[in-house]
Amino acid sequence: MNVIIFGPPGAGKGTQSEILAKKFNLFKVSTGDLLRKEIKNKTPISEKIKVINKGNLVPDEIIGSLIENILANKSYCNRLIFDGYPRTLNQAENLDLLVKKHKQKISVILSLKVDESDIIKRIQGRETCSKCGLIFNKFFNPATEENHKCDKTFLHKRVDDTEKTLKNRFETYAKKTLPILDYYRNQKLLREIDGKGKINDIYQQIHQIIHSLEA
Ligand code: AMP
Repeated sequence: MNVIIFGPPGAGKGTQSEILAKKFNLFKVSTGDLLRKEIKNKTPISEKIKVINKGNLVPDEIIGSLIENILANKSYCNRLIFDGYPRTLNQAENLDLLVKKHKQKISVILSLKVDESDIIKRIQGRETCSKCGLIFNKFFNPATEENHKCDKTFLHKRVDDTEKTLKNRFETYAKKTLPILDYYRNQKLLREIDGKGKINDIYQQIHQIIHSLEA
């Protein structure tokens, strides 16, 4: 089973895919995390990737080669969860070619529906641990001694979670990413999730869908 979690910035894709990966033994592929890692490690492509700090999309060719490396790895075969990918129609079409080439398939696209006002609050409160990668929220899901083992000093706000960048990220989402939904609707792979409310309530909706796919 390969799953795509879809939604606007701050919809909770990272949080839900983290839970899903653990419960269903899937491998989480966050293109945002992969790109931030390239920048951190100052790899040869890192300069081209720095556009993410302004909220712009990274070129499709770079994303395509990162994804192909993962799809080619047999140990993750048909157990991937994509978070933040695909983000353009071109990426979605390329993903179809890649899954065919590596004899895999996409099982479902889970689209998280959230109001813009909720999203802004979620992004303003978002904190990520640079050591373990877990995502918390100062307002709704703060890091505590029970849910987070690393030192508090590892918690940080993402550089692209600013008001100015956020505006650009929303515009890019509306213009380039949202049209993908029709592509998957036509393939009858799209399932919509009410992404408001508590993390566990959202997860329960997703769990039911995944469970029904496995049956
Ligand atoms: P995310 O962690 O998913 O919010 O992604 C952070 C930023 O990385 C985005 O705002 C984009 O600039 C870039 N990014 C992540 N995934 C992709 C993708 N699939 N295609 C192009 N750019 C991406």
